[in-house]
Amino acid sequence: MILPSGFQTDTTRPSFGPALIAFRMQSLLALIAGCLAVIIAGMELAHYGGDLLYPTGHGPTPLTLICILLLSIALIYKTLFPVVQLWRRGLFALVFALALFRLAEIYLLAATPLSDVAAFLFNRDPRDDMAMSTAISLMLFSLGAFLRPVVPVSGFVVTLSGLVPVSFVFLIYSYGLTAANVDMSPATLALLILIGVSSIFSFSRSVILRPLLTTSAWGRMARLQLFGTMVGVWIVGAVSHLTETAMMFEAILASAMWLFGMIILVSGSVFERIERDRRALLREVEHRARHDPLTGLLNRHAVGDYVAMVQNMARGRRRDDDEITVGVILADIDFFKRVNDTLGHEAGDRVLQNVAGVLRGKLRSSDMVARWGGEEFLMLLPGATQDQAMNIAQVLRTAIATHVSWKNGLEVEPITISIGVTCYDSRNGADSLEKTIQHADTALYSAKTQGRNRVKCFRSERGQAVRATDLLPPRDKVH
Ligand code: GH3
Ligand code: MG
Ligand code: MG
Repeated sequence: MILPSGFQTDTTRPSFGPALIAFRMQSLLALIAGCLAVIIAGMELAHYGGDLLYPTGHGPTPLTLICILLLSIALIYKTLFPVVQLWRRGLFALVFALALFRLAEIYLLAATPLSDVAAFLFNRDPRDDMAMSTAISLMLFSLGAFLRPVVPVSGFVVTLSGLVPVSFVFLIYSYGLTAANVDMSPATLALLILIGVSSIFSFSRSVILRPLLTTSAWGRMARLQLFGTMVGVWIVGAVSHLTETAMMFEAILASAMWLFGMIILVSGSVFERIERDRRALLREVEHRARHDPLTGLLNRHAVGDYVAMVQNMARGRRRDDDEITVGVILADIDFFKRVNDTLGHEAGDRVLQNVAGVLRGKLRSSDMVARWGGEEFLMLLPGATQDQAMNIAQVLRTAIATHVSWKNGLEVEPITISIGVTCYDSRNGADSLEKTIQHADTALYSAKTQGRNRVKCFRSERGQAVRATDLLPPRDKVH
């Protein structure tokens, strides 16, 4: 029924639900990109693409489609056939090499051997193959993904920079700047957005992206800020009636988006560190507030929380047979003052620690052991009946007398405890758990007055007659 001794759980820890969504989106976006690449290639081969695919620019070109397909295979996390890590890295390296070679074709080489092969498939002019900005993006995506297992932060930055040309072309198309000299086709742009975002999501566990994808207050706020910034800056551009020559203004807008985005991402890792320290401090403070520093047991404050929780549960139960019982054992060390007076306070402290250790060691982890006062200990045993609590109390009494002692001059004297026992039962509406603890105190007082080193039980009959019953005979001085 009830929780272990340190019963409060850490509710301050954020969950990574959004990161899980991003992880699934990574595969989904890559799958869509891969499927689209195959469909477009199919239309090309059937000589069906033409005007539909190339209103502007010449893409998606054969080489682009091949690269997108390879990247999507490597980015889909769960595939019909298992793609081992080495294969993935091989595919990323291959795309990187293809994109790099294409750049060399554009800027360095006189011939276009690679594009010739790809163009041969689609029967196209090889000079129309993969555009410069597409090649740069694909090169950066594949390089970032290749670096991810080794240097995740650098990998993330490289992948993110792959989106810069994509964002630039996106703004041009979305503002309808048709006269601008764009070398990337809208279809290629769509494929690159899909594969680029999928690549970004593959970093959802990296130190930069992780804080953004938690349910922490900062995570939620940052996602909202990121979204607001992107949409806000885009709207500013749209309403400022960009003319087709206002490329500079558009570049400033794109830079503003990226700047905001980078600031939010970088501040995420700083926030995560601050948040970790704050949680550690909170846990420490919470622990101190609920534990006794000398014995390490729970303190009265923690008992108060526990009592309130039990009472709430008792009130919330639906049926009468859904009962809650808690065995209550209150123990007090006999003649403890003598130890202090004879050996000093420090020796007394050690005795208290030993007694606490024995009590804790004898009980289940789901039982609560608390230091109730100076040399008084309260034990709450969830689910225990009165008889079970009595038996356990007797075991505790014997264990203390056997295992804890102090040196009074030449003589070794056992430490003994007197115990009062009661049982809380939620069906007995008259008595709260708090009241039950008071009854245990009454039984303990009775154990003290009747000679100490014994267990007494409190019985309430019809809510009024109170009688302390000696169920088990005390055994004096057990060694
Ligand atoms: P009884 O059998 O009637 O319980 O006698 P007792 O001597 O145990 O009870 P009393 O209430 O007369 O004395 C309790 C003593 O416990 C007095 C106090 O100095 C000592 N004490 C309370 N807290 C601590 C503590 O943290 N450390 C030490 N060393 N002693 C403590
Ligand atoms: Mg005492
Ligand atoms: Mg006392």
